[in-house]
Amino acid sequence: MVHNIHKNLLSVEPNWQKELANSFTDPEDLLSYLELPLAKYTQHSKARRLFPMRVPYFFASLMAKGQADDPLLKQVLPLADEFLEVDGFVTDPLEELDNAKDGIVHKYHNRLLLIVKGGCAVNCRYCFRRHFPYGEHQNNKTQWREHFAYIHAHTELDEIILSGGDPLMSNDDHIAWLIEQIEAIAHIKRLRIHTRLPVVLPNRVTERLAQLLAHSRLQSIVVLHINHPNEISPELTTKVHALKQHNVTVLNQAVLLKGVNANAQTQMALNEALFSAGIMPYYLHMFDRVKGAHHFAVNDNEAIGIMQEVIKQQSGYMIPKLVREIGGEPSKTPIDLSI
Ligand SMILES: *Cc1c(COP(=O)(O)O)cnc(C)c1O
Ligand code: SF4
Repeated sequence: MVHNIHKNLLSVEPNWQKELANSFTDPEDLLSYLELPLAKYTQHSKARRLFPMRVPYFFASLMAKGQADDPLLKQVLPLADEFLEVDGFVTDPLEELDNAKDGIVHKYHNRLLLIVKGGCAVNCRYCFRRHFPYGEHQNNKTQWREHFAYIHAHTELDEIILSGGDPLMSNDDHIAWLIEQIEAIAHIKRLRIHTRLPVVLPNRVTERLAQLLAHSRLQSIVVLHINHPNEISPELTTKVHALKQHNVTVLNQAVLLKGVNANAQTQMALNEALFSAGIMPYYLHMFDRVKGAHHFAVNDNEAIGIMQEVIKQQSGYMIPKLVREIGGEPSKTPIDLSI
């Protein structure tokens, strides 16, 4: 495998699609790059079959060399533990499968989620979507027209959320077309994009994408997904500033993950680093009990203890809401911190 990142950085227009194609997909390549011993890993490599490994070179470059417990590496490296069957951990913890297959999820009153693209630039081992069969999911134009007709008919909607997978796996032409269609529906005021791509591959935030959001009549919000302060690179910060110059609101949602960020110190460092980079911490999600990822689970009492500590020490505006998503509920459910 050849990694062309340096060549890409020197060219006039960095080609994020090429960078994406050069991602690590073999755990042994990633471990060699990180100067970690391969012998101990052999027993784990089968877990790739449960959910493929995918790690852009840029994201790997943020990991520390020679550190098997690097918090970024832990989020993406397949482990034999994923084969364990544990009570209460299921393939579809949010009971979303049927909705997601149609490419549209309207569970919350005023906002509707469009599944723009099934795949992601990085495959996070803890993802509740690891069992979704929509890897190939891609609406055709007829389905899109049906979705827009639905949005048109539902005047209670004021916000459209582009989700996935990762919606920024689509190219800018497709994003432009989607924005144009959504703008044409008078009662929609806001467009939200839920994406991890700018974190793992900052070149995805092209000048054209920023311009598209800047020139839309819709107010735009980008919700990033960053779990650890080491994910906030200078390259990402530059892109966040560019978006903010175009009046895009930039928020973050994180997941509370054992072995990655489940302590008050890391949470505070994350809030501090996000805010310094111009990103507002929005949600901290309780991990969804997805089969094959039980080793990331943090129980409610631990989570509450962490947040109580954070609240004592940090400014209120940089503290995210601790929430859980419960299948069928009409909103995210806040976790009560007063107990
Ligand atoms: C999380 C979620 C949203 C957005 O909820 P906010 O609380 O506004 O961030 C919308 N629709 C679905 C189905 C969701 O899961
Ligand atoms: S980027 Fe988001 S949707 Fe994609 S694998 Fe990671 S957590 Fe899941």
